Amino acid sequence: MATPETTLLIGGERLDGEGESLEVENPFSEETVATLAAASPQQVDAAVAAARKGFKAWEATPATERAEMMHEAANRLRARTDELAALMTCEGGKPVVENADEVGWAAAAFDYYAEIGRDSAGRVIPPIEPSQLALVVKDPLGVVGCIVPWNYPLLLLAWKLAPALAAGNSAVCKPSEVTPLSTLAIAEVFDHLPVGTVNIVAGAGDVGGAISAHEGIDAVAFTGSVETGKKVAAACLDRMARVNLEMGGKDPFIVCSDVATEIEVAARGGAWAAYLNAGQVCTSAERFYVMEDVYDDFVAAFVDHTKSLVVGDPTDAGTDIGPMVSAPQRLKVAAQVEAAVSAGAEVLTGGDRAGHERGHFFAPTVVTGLAPETDLLRQETFGPVAPIVPVKSLDEAIELANGTQFGLGANIYTRDLKNILRCMREIKAGTVWFNDPLTDNDAGPFGGFKQSGLGRELGREGLEAFQETKHVHIETELGIKDWWYPYAPQPPKS
Ligand code: NAD
Repeated sequence: MATPETTLLIGGERLDGEGESLEVENPFSEETVATLAAASPQQVDAAVAAARKGFKAWEATPATERAEMMHEAANRLRARTDELAALMTCEGGKPVVENADEVGWAAAAFDYYAEIGRDSAGRVIPPIEPSQLALVVKDPLGVVGCIVPWNYPLLLLAWKLAPALAAGNSAVCKPSEVTPLSTLAIAEVFDHLPVGTVNIVAGAGDVGGAISAHEGIDAVAFTGSVETGKKVAAACLDRMARVNLEMGGKDPFIVCSDVATEIEVAARGGAWAAYLNAGQVCTSAERFYVMEDVYDDFVAAFVDHTKSLVVGDPTDAGTDIGPMVSAPQRLKVAAQVEAAVSAGAEVLTGGDRAGHERGHFFAPTVVTGLAPETDLLRQETFGPVAPIVPVKSLDEAIELANGTQFGLGANIYTRDLKNILRCMREIKAGTVWFNDPLTDNDAGPFGGFKQSGLGRELGREGLEAFQETKHVHIETELGIKDWWYPYAPQPPKS
């Protein structure tokens, strides 16, 4: 692999960071793959100033031209799929096939918003009088700060940056300090846009905090943990800046009795939903509630399938599950599993390093016999662990599904329309998938109930997150209105 790009993008220039040093680790080899310098506070200021200038030019660019430029960005991303996927695997540990998909999905978000953006300037509403025209106009907000986590660095950037640009905003983007390289590598994808429209700074929480609190930032779009999201929200609230938050999850996965004959399908769907990206997906299936009469068959099929998965080098096309992103993430997952076992749970398979001495591996793991209050059933795990719990009824499954502070996604396997309607109506989650776990749709809004977030990405809602609404009232006849002063009837003028 070529030496990764480590420079920041500020006002159209590639600059070395002047802040603290960041080391990027390959989670498979545990070697340092790049050392770079984060943005200094002055460089964050410079990026915001550049974005303010860029905003003026980008806002003034006709929406059809903006759309063409966004399609061009999508094409440039797609053309570099293999190179970017290799880089993302190197810094994040996700299997290369999943990273190639991610580049394609990121490009698709730019294509989608290119079209939505040139079709969305507001609407005409009925005026009060026939001589008037009344409009609802959608303005850009200004400069958007995009703060992104490490699990899907390009996709989660695209879900923010593409709608922000489509709405006419400029941006200051900050990738995670764990996976900055793929984001820095795509700076050239935007070099046909007006200078300063897209800026990229690297750094950790201090740089994210400087962006969230910056007077020159009009809105922050954030994906990450609940804890950090609350800090971002507080910083934005202080100056009434807009904020869009995509945070943690603890998604339930319900299996109903009526899929008894397709229990293998449900088990394989569940395993994919639990283990994709080593379980480091915000919508990973993290709790399985399975009807008692299909429980034994489901667990047996799940364990069999789990044992068949290839855990290894993420650059190999045949690898199903790579290492976790970092040692602390791995330790957090191991600690949750250990705590569950201490409270009486049983590990049916996994729970170890899957035979790898090097790399942050955690084997895909199936756990049963869990105490209800264990963190493995209540707190976000973010690792390849499937805790499976038998339930007596759909009532019980729905009650348990709704029983955490989170509400991001939910999966249900059933063919019964009554079950579908009940789950659709009663489960408090931003996305409810039936019989097809975790499938995203650019046109379908994505986000969470409760502590999983505020606002939505994707869909028209994802564009509106970056628009300010203005009511414009135009009177074409200049005359004195009879409801103006004075209220008392006036004597006729002689
Ligand atoms: P994190 O909260 O530690 O970091 C996320 C980003 O915020 C990083 O860029 C980080 O540098 C930055 N940051 C850290 N402190 C900050 C501060 N004080 N102010 C501003 N920015 C700050 O999360 P992570 O560990 O990178 O990602 C994992 C988390 O992300 C998980 O909890 C997961 O559920 C969540 N996630 C959610 C979604 C979703 O769409 N809901 C998607 C993916 C990941």
